[in-house]
Amino acid sequence: MQKRVLLKISGEQLAGQYEHGIDPQFGGWLAQEVKAFAENGSQIIIMVGGGNFVRGAQIAGKGIKRVTADHMGMLGTVMNAIALTDIFEKHDVPTRCLSNIFAQQVSENFSHRLAEKHLAAGRVVIVAGGVGRPYFTTDTAAVNLALELDCQAVYKATKVDGVYNKDPAQYSDAVRLDHVSFKEAVDNDHIRVMDKAAMALAMEHKLKIVVFDALQEDNIRRVARGEHVGTEVS
Ligand code: UDP
Repeated sequence: MQKRVLLKISGEQLAGQYEHGIDPQFGGWLAQEVKAFAENGSQIIIMVGGGNFVRGAQIAGKGIKRVTADHMGMLGTVMNAIALTDIFEKHDVPTRCLSNIFAQQVSENFSHRLAEKHLAAGRVVIVAGGVGRPYFTTDTAAVNLALELDCQAVYKATKVDGVYNKDPAQYSDAVRLDHVSFKEAVDNDHIRVMDKAAMALAMEHKLKIVVFDALQEDNIRRVARGEHVGTEVS
């Protein structure tokens, strides 16, 4: 079976060296990594976050309804996705952006068939708009999409290189774990690398999650070669 994985990139990562917005330098670097991955014959789908623009839960209130705030968050993911699509294509990585929130002027609407068609044509598919509904996050959307497109795993890019037994920022003796069970990842409040709702969905369907540092040189290529990176939650 052809290797097919879903890569979840947060808005914070897309901001790269900046506090907000998109860092084209990071996008270009990511394009090169993804290119190497695709040249290996693997298919890659990217779910982008939007936290570099808006996180609904943080701006809701004082007049902005939660639903509106979440719509703004989803629109932020659209900005990320169309920018990243341009950057990928500039680096000769054939890419299409599909959106789960209606934005026909800037993106094709997501449909299962269309995503399959682009993947079969050797294109990277970048998905915007999460699941297209408020009160969700792009982590949950990533797991949902990986299930829909029959991915072998979800690779969640984080700033740290996996899951630790305690907070590595606070404890110098924190140890990185190679493997964590779904139950532990859901039950342990110290493990906050991914939304609990996303973890619970992955657990229900036994979909492997790998938490890793995508910024570490060669890590994405190592994933393509089937090597162990970061922490596997399964
Ligand atoms: N969002 C939403 N529904 C979805 C996905 C995202 O309403 O299916 C909104 C939500 O407000 C969220 C924001 O979009 O806070 C940005 O997504 P997320 O926080 O997951 O981005 P990340 O933290 O990964 O950058």
